[in-house]
Formats: sequence, C-alpha cells, structure tokens
Amino acid sequence: MTEATRVLVLNAGSSSVKYQLIDMLDGTRPAAGLVERIGEGSGRLKHTAPDGAVRETMQPYPDHAAALKAVAAELAADGLGLDSPELAAIGHRVVHGGKRFTAPTLVTDEVLTEIRRLVPVAPLHNPANITGIEVARALRPDLPQVAVFDTAFHTTIPEHAARYAIDPAIADEHRVRRYGFHGTSHQYVARATARLLGKDPAELNVIVLHLGNGASASAVAGGVCVDTSMGLTPLEGLVMGTRSGDIDPGVIFHLNRVGGLSIDEIDDLLNRRSGLLGLCGDNDMREILRRAEEGDAAAELAFRAYVHRLRKYLGGYYAVLGRVDAIAFTAGVGENAAPVRAAATVGLEELGIAVDPELNSVRSAEARVISPAYSRVTVAVVPTDEELEIAQQAYALVGAG
Ligand code: ADP
Repeated sequence: MTEATRVLVLNAGSSSVKYQLIDMLDGTRPAAGLVERIGEGSGRLKHTAPDGAVRETMQPYPDHAAALKAVAAELAADGLGLDSPELAAIGHRVVHGGKRFTAPTLVTDEVLTEIRRLVPVAPLHNPANITGIEVARALRPDLPQVAVFDTAFHTTIPEHAARYAIDPAIADEHRVRRYGFHGTSHQYVARATARLLGKDPAELNVIVLHLGNGASASAVAGGVCVDTSMGLTPLEGLVMGTRSGDIDPGVIFHLNRVGGLSIDEIDDLLNRRSGLLGLCGDNDMREILRRAEEGDAAAELAFRAYVHRLRKYLGGYYAVLGRVDAIAFTAGVGENAAPVRAAATVGLEELGIAVDPELNSVRSAEARVISPAYSRVTVAVVPTDEELEIAQQAYALVGAG
C-alpha cells in the first residue's frame, strides 16, 4: 500500500488561493501555485509542476469553488490529484481562532461552526478561510482537513498582557482582547532560531520580528509566546506596509468628529493607506531604501518612523522577557533589508546587542547569525516557512508524523 506522506497546504484569501504540496518524508514540494483575482473578470492561475515548469492560465474564476477545482485539475495533470493515496491531509491556514483554538484542529461541522462564529472579529479573513475548507471538504470528503490558526501560538499570552484596560464586561461581550496574528510564523521562527543556535527551545528567550508587508513582533520565553504586537485585529503594533500600527484611539474620534470622516473611511485610511505607504507613497521597502539613498525626505522619514517603532518593541519585549538570548529577523523585510536590521539594533551594546556589518550584508536564503561572537544576545536572520509549519502540524495531528 502506498504510504500517505504528503500534505496539501491551502491558504485561501479574500480573492486568492495559495497552495503547496509538501512531502513530509523529505521536505520536497512537488507542486505549488496560486490563483489570483477570484471573483473578478480576469483571473490567473500559476502552477509550478514537479519538474519546475510553470503553467499559467488566464481565465475568470467566479468563486473559490471554481478556483480550487482548477487547482485540483492542475495537480491531477501532474499525477498529484486530490484522490492520490499519498495525500495524508489538507492543512488550512485560518487567520482567527479566537480563545478556543489553541492548537491545530481536525475540521468537523462543529469546528466550522465555531470558526464561523469568529467572523465578526475577522471579517476580512475568516470567511475566505471557511470557503476554502468547505470546498476542499466537498472535493475530498474522506480526507482529514486540519485548521491551523494564526492566533493559536499567542493563546499562551498571560491575561494581563492580552486584556485591554477597558471594562471586562464590555470587552468579553464583544470578544475584545489582544489575540495576535502571524502565530504560525512566530512559532516556526522561534523554533528554527533554537535549532540554529543548537539549543533546546525550552531554554531560549527570543524576540521574533516578522517584518513582511504586515509586520509583528513577539516575545517568546522558553518556546512559549508571552506577548505580541498585533491585537484584536492585525492593525495594532509596528508600522507596516499600509497599516499605521499603534495609534492614539483618540485620533479616530477626532477624524470622525472634527475631520468628518466616516468610520469606514477611517478603517480604510488606517488599514490600507497608512504605514510606509501613507508616509511616503511606497510600501515596498526596496523602493524606500532606494529613494532614501537618493536623499528623498519622505522616504527617509518613513524609514525612520518604521525603525523607531521597531526599536520601541525591541526594548519593550526585552523588559517583558528580562533575559533575551536571541533576536530573529524574518519575512520579506526582515530577511532581506540589511539597513533595517542595522538601524533597529544600532547603539544597543549596553543591552548586549550588536550586529556585525559584514555578516549583516551577506545575502542568503539560509538561517544565519549576524551578531559578532562577543554579542551577548545572538542576532539572527531566520527565513520563515509558514507552509512547512502548517504541513508539519497537520501531519502530526493526523497521526502520520
Ligand atoms: P507578506 O506580508 O505579503 O507575506 P513578505 O513577507 O513577502 O510579505 O514581505 C514583502 C515585503 O518584503 C515587500 O513589500 C518588501 O517591502 C520587502 N522586501 C522584499 N524583498 C526585499 C529586499 N530585497 N529588500 C528590502 N525589502 C524587501
């Protein structure tokens, strides 16, 4: 009998589906791809086959069901269809798991109902994740479907850090608390950092800086998350590509009452037209670094505001942890932007933090240390791999791992 050693990882967004087929025996990825612009006039499917060949299909995908059927057909064309006996499970990224989902969970009707109940706190994300699960279940009803939650790793954050200082009755009625996101990445990177240092995660305190288009920091004590910068929604915390991060809530009242902006307009402003984009018109750090280099004042301000917030969280989490063994930079900006890493850590020798300029400038896809030997805190670049983490968690849950 063929052994089921593969996991299909699905990440269904509001208008896109990303997927990777991962073989858990050797870590290879026989196929991967994405469908974009679902529900729009012109969709696109990009599929990478086992031999590395890329097939692109341009056609409308009216809904997620159509998109996932097309993905299933692409996989089948490579002999990797959803009916293949090698498939052990489908792992779904689910953004919001609330307080209930603290670990990867086998999807049942009851679990789906609970994920649906969380839609009011994740209106942009959970509906697409739910659709992805429903469609995948319909295509292969007998196959284990595992939900892996972005919030799960943060459910260990103590109550005094998770609660906002508001009336608990009101907060509880509306499920208002700090949940945190990017948990799968923070968890993966915290563990990968321990591996890089040859240490047991249980004996390591790490500050993980996930700096992508969305960005968040977390404080991880002995493998357990004790604080993170995103809150009820992914808007809180660091300056991001298009999100403001921390802001005085009074700004919202002011813009509404005095500025005449509606709540929806302010929502759009803070989530989609703020952060780096709002400050300088670009949200790509490459472009900002290039412009700042040429002396562009707006780009320089955006860079400095971004780094200033990062340093505040670095210092804050240092105090939260008491002892820091490592700082790990990850995601698009964290893995690639040496000037951000340098500016975030400069002048912190008193805290035992130093970065070696030469090591920092090395470009590599591998996890690597960028601090000199004398640095008490190890500073590292640790590429994230959320898909692999989802696959591993799903595989372990279905008892195959
Ligand atoms: P997402 O949150 O969309 O998953 P990523 O983790 O892929 O984001 O990060 C995307 C961001 O990474 C880009 O917007 C860009 O700012 C940044 N980035 C990617 N490559 C580089 C690079 N070589 N130098 C600086 N920034 C980069």
